Amino acid sequence: MVWLFSAICLTFSLHSFDIRFVFDTIKIKCMNPGTFSSIIVNPVISLGWTAANWLFPPQCAGCGEPGMVWCQACQEKIQRIQHKVCPLCGVPRADGVLCSDCRQSKPEFDWARSWANYDPAMREIIHQLKYGNNIALALPLGGALVQLYRSAPYPADLVTVVPMSRQRRLRRGYNQASLIARAFCRAAGLPFSSSVLRRIRQTESQVGKHPRERMLNVKDAFAAETEFVAGKTVLVIDDVFTTGATMRSCANALKQAGAGHVIGLTAARAGLHQEEPLPAAAARAY
Ligand SMILES: [Zn+2]
Ligand SMILES: [Zn+2]
Repeated sequence: MVWLFSAICLTFSLHSFDIRFVFDTIKIKCMNPGTFSSIIVNPVISLGWTAANWLFPPQCAGCGEPGMVWCQACQEKIQRIQHKVCPLCGVPRADGVLCSDCRQSKPEFDWARSWANYDPAMREIIHQLKYGNNIALALPLGGALVQLYRSAPYPADLVTVVPMSRQRRLRRGYNQASLIARAFCRAAGLPFSSSVLRRIRQTESQVGKHPRERMLNVKDAFAAETEFVAGKTVLVIDDVFTTGATMRSCANALKQAGAGHVIGLTAARAGLHQEEPLPAAAARAY
């Protein structure tokens, strides 16, 4: 109930009263593939959410049309990553072979893919999710990641997310990656835990940092619990993959704790030209 209390307090304190934020929080936070939830809780929550949608119709985050949180036409405008990619990190490559980054330094994760390019349309969607309290956007993004997951080389035993710093969490009120992961797990029928990874030291903002600086900034910043991950395939979900430094650092912590395989899924891929400094707007996504 802590999250429900937090959502209501947050609504009254940080934002103007937003009934949709409260209902969307209840809907997404109650997503659990457990048997009890499936039979009793989820139908009740879904009914309440349907009523909330009827009373307070959502608007498309792309075009503003009422009726859906993100309409089909706007989703189809998103530039998907569908062609040949580096088999490890998923960066688009015409020849479909290992990219130079993965050849120079093999990532700690075993496979990572992103759903779409972090172009202006996708950036708007991510920003509305992260900074605009439009948390219902986690539902279509989580669904999109299920499509990507079907091509994963290892079936996941457990799904988790990149942990957010306490200060940022308090400021924003929620971790957008957790919301996407919960929606993903509900659709994929996989267990979710937000406490598999934890931050063991503070990191600076990644904004404006070169790829090497980003790598050093998050190096050894995370730890994982052996009892949760030993011998398992862990899927890490995040909203944006920029240089992969954060995903690498999380995978390193999971492997050190005994994880068998680590795979990663992200909604968007930024910084495709990794040798160049990131534009500030893209870096803000971290
Ligand atoms: Zn639209
Ligand atoms: Zn690669």
